[in-house]
Amino acid sequence: MIVAIPVKGYFAENCYFYIDDRTKHGFLIDPGAESYKLLNLIVRKGWIIEKILLTHGHFDHIGAVNEIRDALSVPVVAHKNSYSYLSDGYMNLSSQCGYPITVKVDAVTHDGDILRLEENNEFSLQVIYTPGHTTDSIILYSEKDRVAFVGDTIFKGNIGSYQFPGGNPKDLMKSIVNKIFSLPDNTVLLSGHSDKTTVGAEKKNATFSRIMIW
Ligand SMILES: [Zn+2]
Repeated sequence: MIVAIPVKGYFAENCYFYIDDRTKHGFLIDPGAESYKLLNLIVRKGWIIEKILLTHGHFDHIGAVNEIRDALSVPVVAHKNSYSYLSDGYMNLSSQCGYPITVKVDAVTHDGDILRLEENNEFSLQVIYTPGHTTDSIILYSEKDRVAFVGDTIFKGNIGSYQFPGGNPKDLMKSIVNKIFSLPDNTVLLSGHSDKTTVGAEKKNATFSRIMIW
């Protein structure tokens, strides 16, 4: 099951639970704020969170990580380039917003990695490296469930921003066109800051891909 929880810190952000219905074990993706709300839900539902997964290291996606890791003793997993963001308030934008935070990474991922639940090996997410919004952006993809957690790389009707540290418009377009648009059209895209959409719907929007693909 997938449960989307909107949280509000400095910005509103979508945090996601990806939970195996059979074992109630699962992953928590991008807990951006309101740790108490997320922890209450975890306890109420009886979920066992095995890992906190980060689509990238911006502060509005990591604001509740430290409290939740401390409460549950679970590892934080992010792309191998995430250290420069998670360890630096300027890079993760928290300093510019007046609430500097840093987060420690426990395990790093690489393009193509499969992240499996310990309790159920068949329940997994594939890491696809999608730089452009940041240099540590990944999407987390389930072919079985036809869903991808895309962070801030693409939104419903829009693309991610590329003006922040490490952002790069060419890389962003390559990631969207080559990595996201190559997924099946009926793949649901769950982003950090918009309603859900699909690959097919965003392809229809994407006049930009013709311009930028070169
Ligand atoms: Zn971001």
